[in-house]
Amino acid sequence: MPMTPFAPPTRVLMGPGPSDVHERVRLALARDTIGHLDPEFITLMDQIMGGLREVFCTDYQLTMPISAPGSAGQEAAIVNLLEPGDTFIACVNGVFGGRMAVMAERAGAKVVKVEQQWGRAIDVEALRDALKQNPTTKLVGFVHAETSTGVLSDAQAIAAVAQEFGALTLADTVTSLGGVPVKIQEWGIDAAYSGTQKCLSCPPGLSPVTFGPRAREAMDARKIPVQSWFLDLSLLTGYWSGAKRAYHHTAPVNALYGLHESLVMLLEEGLEAAWKRHSDTHLKLVEGLESLGLHMAVPAGERTPQLNAVMVPDGVDEAGVRAQLLQRHNLEIGAGLGPMAGKIWRIGLMGQSCTQRHVDLCIGALGEALNA
Ligand SMILES: *Cc1c(COP(=O)(O)O)cnc(C)c1O
Repeated sequence: MPMTPFAPPTRVLMGPGPSDVHERVRLALARDTIGHLDPEFITLMDQIMGGLREVFCTDYQLTMPISAPGSAGQEAAIVNLLEPGDTFIACVNGVFGGRMAVMAERAGAKVVKVEQQWGRAIDVEALRDALKQNPTTKLVGFVHAETSTGVLSDAQAIAAVAQEFGALTLADTVTSLGGVPVKIQEWGIDAAYSGTQKCLSCPPGLSPVTFGPRAREAMDARKIPVQSWFLDLSLLTGYWSGAKRAYHHTAPVNALYGLHESLVMLLEEGLEAAWKRHSDTHLKLVEGLESLGLHMAVPAGERTPQLNAVMVPDGVDEAGVRAQLLQRHNLEIGAGLGPMAGKIWRIGLMGQSCTQRHVDLCIGALGEALNA
């Protein structure tokens, strides 16, 4: 088959990510490529680190994007913070907590799981029991907004319990960052990673990470080098900071233009305003879904506004409805994963995809599909 230019359809993205990318970000991505050690590029890198600190609500110096999607930030945190034989407690209430546990096992850690029913928030008392039984735990990992189920856990309470037992805390903020308050420093979270294609509304491909002083001490005290050369933060730091930047890998120059522009846009709006937009729009969506006779999958106090899990009614063709939304309305919503496959739809209201217009389109299209 001959190669021809690819013209993607124009979709409205209301799934679990990527979200809609604003024209400003798309235009930024298309700007002239410059060298990755160009002095102008170094200025851009410094601005991105500053912007990420603001968005993570922290002063942590070691804050930068990893040159790969969210899973790479997740793996970077795990392989830098854990050494073989360390005890890691993984809070698991969905796909992404489960992945953390798998990564830690591969890093040679002794993994203890605090399992919670999918669709419910992490039980902080169950975590406390696990810490009592494993008092030498080095690191507690949890997913702030579990995208597989639409659940928001109490990050501040989890970090506080971990700290009581002298353990470090690692937060997955891939879906939460930019959509709900993420106060890394105030909450005492030692390390966190995120992604660009959820509430930051960039294309996928970068993973912002942040590490505080206690996490850095743990990394400095490592007995063996990080197994992954590419994700070794001690090497990445030489590239992203300091007076003289040492080549490590070639940064994805244009992707970083896009992230920079999205951070400019988010900070122009203001974090508080963005969080309020997500919670207000979420309430409108829930109202619309309930007016169609649909039921939310997660109890009211535990929902994360940017990912709405809704039960598929009995007798309705789950995949058929999604296909119809895509064909007739160019609208993408997500399916359930794992034990939720076929049982829920996942409707994202992330970043640029979180407006009243998106709610109206989705409710109108779903209503039409359910009536057919
Ligand atoms: C999307 C997501 C990830 C993985 O990010 P990728 O960019 O797909 O690698 C990890 N954790 C959560 C909570 C996510 O929503």
